[in-house]
Amino acid sequence: MEITTYRRHSANCKHKDDRYHPRCGCPLWFQFNWSQPATTLEGNKLRRGQNKWAAETHIWSEAQTKAKQLNSNLEALLQGKPVRQNVTVKAAVDEWLEFRSTNGLDNRKADLMGRKAHRVVRKERCRSS
Ligand SMILES: [Zn+2]
Repeated sequence: MEITTYRRHSANCKHKDDRYHPRCGCPLWFQFNWSQPATTLEGNKLRRGQNKWAAETHIWSEAQTKAKQLNSNLEALLQGKPVRQNVTVKAAVDEWLEFRSTNGLDNRKADLMGRKAHRVVRKERCRSS
């Protein structure tokens, strides 16, 4: 998956004509396309189509490292592999439940399954740490 790293320059930055300036100190962002239905990744909303996420760094090399990590997470998500995520399982379950209730689907069984998923994830975490 192609992830473009670029700068969002401040209005008075001397380098604002160069989206890829190596060190002007303005915030770095990632831009990429997601071809799958909307989901979440590490608490961030992943939309179908173009996504723009803050890299949360001003340092180009750091952004490159984060872009690689993001790329492997996205690839894993594409292949249906479990992704190392933080809060996201709960977020995903909540979102799913919300989706079901807004679509008039019965949540009693879904709610149970969601809670079960939490337990499984907690167990996984204990094993890997
Ligand atoms: Zn700048």
